[in-house]
Amino acid sequence: MENIEKGELITTGKAKSLYHSNQQDYLVMHYRDDTSAFDGKKIESLEGKGTINNKFNAFIMNYLEKEGIQTHFVDLLNDTDSLVKKLDMAPVECVVRNVAAGSICKRLGLEEGIDLNPPTFEFFYKDDELGDPMINEYHIRSFGWASEEQVKQMQIKTFEVNEALKKLFSDAGMILVDYKLEFGDFQGTLLLGDEFTPDGCRVWDEETREKLDKDRFRQGLGDVVESYQIMAKRLGVI
Ligand code: ADP
Ligand code: UDP
Repeated sequence: MENIEKGELITTGKAKSLYHSNQQDYLVMHYRDDTSAFDGKKIESLEGKGTINNKFNAFIMNYLEKEGIQTHFVDLLNDTDSLVKKLDMAPVECVVRNVAAGSICKRLGLEEGIDLNPPTFEFFYKDDELGDPMINEYHIRSFGWASEEQVKQMQIKTFEVNEALKKLFSDAGMILVDYKLEFGDFQGTLLLGDEFTPDGCRVWDEETREKLDKDRFRQGLGDVVESYQIMAKRLGVI
């Protein structure tokens, strides 16, 4: 698509801002340096994060398209902006976990690092004030957040992403521990939306198990953007 222009701001989220574009049904997604954790209780600006995440996401979305998974991603516009299809988002987060870490450890009293075989799946309701509570597919149906078919598709597609990305990361010497995806409707088709970046997944070095993702920010380990860059270099993003 040529001569794309950024229009009016639609919404500002915790890490990205969405703008209209001069093309109907297409939006400009702007990746900011803002980084937040613990439902927005810890916020910092990390220089260069917007750029690395924008490029990282473009690489992963293009890879997933090649693997037959349809996404909202259209094109990189510049260092921090991408053109995406405007989706009617389901207000739910789809999480797949290959290894136990984060909230599942607290919830079920697990030690971090236990392999989950088969990988497990969780839905969360996207609501910061409620702290994104865990929900199940019956909640999604009862509250009309998505149809039965969309629920099924979100689960199937999230696992398809797992098969594709587990291998991609493992070929680059990394373990894909877990990740969060969001989906939305585009003219009757459910597409993968939002982002796949180190902000929304956990990735460890295969040998040392060093954390390369947003847990570095959550846990105050330092070198956050540097670690995102290491991950990106290993995958061939940059
Ligand atoms: P948060 O909502 O967690 O604060 P962001 O700062 O990442 O997150 O904001 C991005 C917002 O854009 C989210 O609400 C997300 O659901 C929404 N979104 C992502 N992709 C699309 C899309 N293709 N069309 C419309 N909205 C989208
Ligand atoms: N995640 C996310 N956004 C959220 C909640 C979780 O991107 O609002 C990602 C998180 O980075 C991790 C996975 O989803 O890769 C599982 O997160 P978890 O439930 O363990 O929650 P956390 O303790 O990380 O908030």
